[in-house]
Amino acid sequence: MSNIQDKVVIITGVSSGIGESTAKELASKGAKLVMAARREERLIKLQEEIQMNGGQAIYKVTDVSSHEQMEELANYALKEFGKIDVMINNAGVMPLSSVHERKINEWDTMIDVNVKGVLYGIAAVLPSMRERKEGHIIIVSSVAGHLVFPSSSVYSGTKFAVRAITEGLRQEECNNNIRTTIICPGSVATELTDHISNSELKASIKEQSEIAIDPANIARAIAFAIEQPSDVAINELIIRPTIQQ
Ligand code: NDP
Repeated sequence: MSNIQDKVVIITGVSSGIGESTAKELASKGAKLVMAARREERLIKLQEEIQMNGGQAIYKVTDVSSHEQMEELANYALKEFGKIDVMINNAGVMPLSSVHERKINEWDTMIDVNVKGVLYGIAAVLPSMRERKEGHIIIVSSVAGHLVFPSSSVYSGTKFAVRAITEGLRQEECNNNIRTTIICPGSVATELTDHISNSELKASIKEQSEIAIDPANIARAIAFAIEQPSDVAINELIIRPTIQQ
């Protein structure tokens, strides 16, 4: 039996890309999924597909930048399944731009979703995990959480931030048998670049994304971290296309 079988797993940002692939991978390995994103039509479609393949998944429309909605998401998981084994903070946005463009609203959104959303996710699940003395918190950072390039200043800032937060959480909670994993993908073929508002930059990033790998590869890395024995923590994984610099 897989070590993922019957684990209750919350995943945010499940309506496309890495989140969607991860939901399918974990459902195929017997997880009980609690899926979150804002676009309900996509959640319904994914739930139907998972159920048709014999998997278990419920969903709750959730904006991760709302502390209240994240608490409601965790409470829903506890009400329906009685426990939370794994929290995957995957939702993220990447409207890249140069600082001089002063795209203040986009900065705010990146900080709200990529940083506060992760913090709210951690806050929502930590009390029940500490009580059970068992849990696993996974955050999807990025190779941009290790390096900065022109136009990634704010995005990289958010991805560096969540790596720091997760490392601090690891040190604070390892004695409570709570594992943490930071996932750092390189270029992955998803909808992430769709929201870049500078059209020239968007075209150039899309061109660079031709090397992007399928999100199923990241889903397998996440499953690998979850299926380790509970006394083994995979603290960080970097997964790039082989030809990415
Ligand atoms: P997608 O754009 O395909 O997926 C992003 C997901 O985040 C969607 O499901 C979207 O759902 C959700 N989301 C966005 N804002 C919110 C919000 N406020 N509340 C709830 N959900 C939200 O991109 P990816 O799959 O690529 O991105 C997943 C993660 O992977 C992100 O954290 C990203 O930074 C990271 N990453 C991606 C890389 C890549 O090359 N693709 C590389 C490195 C890291 P909805 O709009 O329905 O709410």
